[in-house]
Amino acid sequence: MSVLVYVEQAEGKFKKSGYEAVSYAFAIAQNLNTNVVAISIGNVDSSELATLGNYGASKVLNVGNPQLEKIVNQAYAAVIAEAAKKENANVVVLSNSFSGKGLAPRIAVKLNAGLVDGAVELPQTNGEFSVKKTAFSGKAFAVTTLSSENKVIALNPNAFGTKENATNASIEDFSPEVKSSDLTAMVKEIIRATDKVSLPDAEIVVSGGRGLKGPENWGMVEELADLLGAATACSKPVSDADWRPHSEHVGQTGIAISPNLYIAIGISGAIQHLAGVSSSKVIVVINKDPEAPFFKVADYGIVGDAFEVVPKIIAALKNHKA
Ligand SMILES: Cc1cc2nc3c(=O)[nH]c(=O)nc-3n(C[C@H](O)[C@H](O)[C@H](O)COP(=O)(O)OP(=O)(O)OC[C@H]3O[C@@H](n4cnc5c(N)ncnc54)[C@H](O)[C@@H]3O)c2cc1C
Repeated sequence: MSVLVYVEQAEGKFKKSGYEAVSYAFAIAQNLNTNVVAISIGNVDSSELATLGNYGASKVLNVGNPQLEKIVNQAYAAVIAEAAKKENANVVVLSNSFSGKGLAPRIAVKLNAGLVDGAVELPQTNGEFSVKKTAFSGKAFAVTTLSSENKVIALNPNAFGTKENATNASIEDFSPEVKSSDLTAMVKEIIRATDKVSLPDAEIVVSGGRGLKGPENWGMVEELADLLGAATACSKPVSDADWRPHSEHVGQTGIAISPNLYIAIGISGAIQHLAGVSSSKVIVVINKDPEAPFFKVADYGIVGDAFEVVPKIIAALKNHKA
């Protein structure tokens, strides 16, 4: 028996959320007295594969099939399920990322497994196997007990953090047969919307709302984000009005994020917005209206005009960096 973890990569480099998934799998494996096998799919070199040992993987399965260089949900799910069978793994862990959301249910069906998506804590493994997860677009938590023999857990990014557990990982090539019926929809090309930090993976997000009045005022949001190494986001009306691209829209109908720090500037904090950001670790709200609902969920609040407050924060950060 072992715990299998699928580790996402982009352009040959593992994502931080992938290392987090390995750290999480290692903690589960320790509770179950077993070891972690990681699986990497795509073109990743051996030195990068070896880094998975730093987070507790004792074996890494490397699927270098060129047909699988870019993600194909059906084929990836089949390969991961095959790996789980080969390694006799009855717990499969992956990140609840955009790709993970497509893969986890497919893997669960193939393994006849119970599925928990959006896990936020380690499973309780005393007798039962119960996992805490977010529910109702992040407005509540649910504890799900899995009674099936096989289990698939998709971990919310930033919920557990990366934890180093130095282990010597052996690397093994794994070449399961890929059915042509699993390759009917292929990703031909990936065109990046931006070369900046990707929003779902960002540890810090600076977000702007209608309080910023217009697209011409986003310079200060971008400057603050650059200084913090953050991604930028926005509320729905802002992207609806084309002030910002739809790829930045967060909330119930946009991307759900859980960064370590979310800075909301001129955003009221409507329930649909909070649905996508409330699991951020620390929330800072800048709003000129002290009654803005966002302050109720803020860890730090600044009541003030964004056009005065944000330039002061930028100046202070520049000072600090100098
Ligand atoms: C089905 C449905 C789904 C939705 N999905 C989403 C979603 O996914 N994401 C989302 O964001 N919204 C969503 N909405 C819309 C949501 O209900 C709100 O209308 C929206 O979030 C409000 O955006 P906002 O806070 O930017 O704008 P407003 O509500 O207009 O708030 C602007 C805020 O800026 C403050 N402000 C104004 N001037 C300044 C200044 N100079 N300095 C500082 N603060 C200032 C104001 O006090 C105010 O609080 C959805 C709505 C529905 C019905």
